[in-house]
Order: sequence, then C-alpha cells, then structure tokens
Amino acid sequence: MTETRIEPGPKESPKAETGIIGPGITLVRAPNASAMTHTGTNTYLLGEARLIVLDPGPADPRHLAALLAAIGGRPVEAVVVGHAHADHAGLASTLARAVGAPVLAHGGGHGVGQGGAGHGGAEPEEGDWLRGLGLAAGPRRFAGAAIAPDVALAEGSLIAAEGGAWQVLHTPGHAPDHICLLRDGVLLSGDHVMAWSSSVIAPPPDGDMGAFMAGLARLARLPLRRALPGHGPAHDDPAALVARLIAHRRAREEAILAALDRLGTPADGEAVTRAVYPRLAPGLEPMARLTCLAHLAELARCGRVSVAPEGPAADPDGTAPTPLATARFLRA
Ligand SMILES: [Zn+2]
Ligand SMILES: [Zn+2]
Repeated sequence: MTETRIEPGPKESPKAETGIIGPGITLVRAPNASAMTHTGTNTYLLGEARLIVLDPGPADPRHLAALLAAIGGRPVEAVVVGHAHADHAGLASTLARAVGAPVLAHGGGHGVGQGGAGHGGAEPEEGDWLRGLGLAAGPRRFAGAAIAPDVALAEGSLIAAEGGAWQVLHTPGHAPDHICLLRDGVLLSGDHVMAWSSSVIAPPPDGDMGAFMAGLARLARLPLRRALPGHGPAHDDPAALVARLIAHRRAREEAILAALDRLGTPADGEAVTRAVYPRLAPGLEPMARLTCLAHLAELARCGRVSVAPEGPAADPDGTAPTPLATARFLRA
C-alpha cells in the first residue's frame, strides 16, 4: 500500500518488466492494479533449477495460474511471505499446497492483524510506549491475511537458495511482520522501500513510524546495488532512493510541526491533517490522516510534541488512556 507519489529518480527503470529481470530472478506481476497497489503486487521467483517464491500475492486464481505456469514444474523449496497484507500473502497457503512447499514468514511474536491466525492477534510489547504517553492505539485497521507459517523467520534468518542464502532483515514500520531479503547487494524490499511511491505508514498498532525510519536508516548504511520492491519498478540506485524517502518523511514531520505552531492550540489528527493539506481531495483524506497520526505518535514518543490532557468530562479520573485518533497534540 502506498501513500504519496514521490519524484522519480534518474536510475529508476521506466517500468518494471515481467519475466526474468536479473540472474535467477523472475518477476510475475499479480493482476491487482489499484491506487494502493500501483501496477499490481510483484511476486518474485528466486533461482532457476530450484525456486523460492517471495510474496505469492493476492488470492486470485488468475495469479495462481500465472505462477504455476512460470514455475513450470520446477521444485519450489519455500513460499516466503514478506508481510501479511492480503495483497502479498493471500495466495500463500494455496500456492504452498499446490507446489508442496512450506510457508515461511516472520513470526517473532508480532501479530499480523485480526486475521493473522498463526501469529496471534495480541501484541503485548507493541504500543507499550503509547500507553506510557497516556494514549491507546485502538484496534487494527489493516487486517493481515490468515497465514500460519510452517517456518517462523526472524531477523538474521538465512533462507537457503540456489546461488546462495538470502538474509532476512526484519523491517517493521509498514507492517509489524515486514521483512526484506538481502543477498550480494540485491534487496527484495517489499513495501518498505518502493520507487513509485512512499510507503503507507499507519499509526500503531498497524504501523510504526519510528521503526520505519530506523529501518530506512539501517538500509542507508548497507552497500545496496539494486532494490526490487513489492510494487512498481526495480531501482538501481537504492542509496539515493532511501535518502529521498528519509528526506520526504523529515519534510512531512517539519510540516506537521509547523502546522501545530500555526494552530497554536491542541489539535487532533483531523485538524492537523487539514492544516498540513488544506486542499486535499476527499478520497485521500483518510490515508493522509493515518499518516499524520503515525507522525504525531512518533513525534510524541520523541518528546517533540506533547499530548493535551483530556478534560474532566471525557476522563473523570484522569487515568484512562486517550485513543490516538481523538488525542489532541501541541508543540512540546
Ligand atoms: Zn503491498
Ligand atoms: Zn503492505
């Protein structure tokens, strides 16, 4: 899922090809193009004689047929789910059964949404910092696909593959269970880093802006030569792309702080969104507000904004955590 179009960089491929896009890497694009999924979800077949499938894609029989045709009877050793959003994971169990392969997904105790059987929906450690600020995150909005991985991946896991193992990087932020795969400077970057648009980062418990930014900072230190994202084209200058994404987020953060300055009084996410985007098209407002809330939560965690205390009518004891969506923020 994506939020805001960013300027294309000089090394961005004009359009991603379907078919063989690199040594031992085949792209099969799912037929689920939309405003949120761009030209569709990218499913990658890794290897030649023996395959790993990354991000099986949406539960669409046309995509299953296209994948089985591209696999062409070759042995599939693993179906890897990069994160449990339905556009990446919906087909996981069906494809795994069809090719007789195990499903691998991050399973480090992070839930993957209300539908996330196998990971569990509860997430005791996540959002604790929010409660420390007197805020409650509320329920998840973006339910994950119901996947029950046969093998739980974690940061640093190695996925054995033809041509060398892929290293798992746990990159939460867009989703709690989001992983990227890395080998020889090639990053399969999922929805964490994309060239066509910046990622949607929802507020907790779905997303985590601080974790997302930490993940970008980590990628900025790695010697990457190619990024293959979950949507849209490959990118041959990941360092420049990551730098652009970090700058984009920092600019958004500054715009939110400036809006709080202009407003002068405690403002909720809706008021901040209207101040940051005075001429937003109606259909874009919900996503913009989620992004603003994600930034506000992170700015509160860093102590750059404070959360206005609720009035006595809303919270007679002054102890109930304020839901993030209705909390009012002001400059610290
Ligand atoms: Zn996606
Ligand atoms: Zn996603």
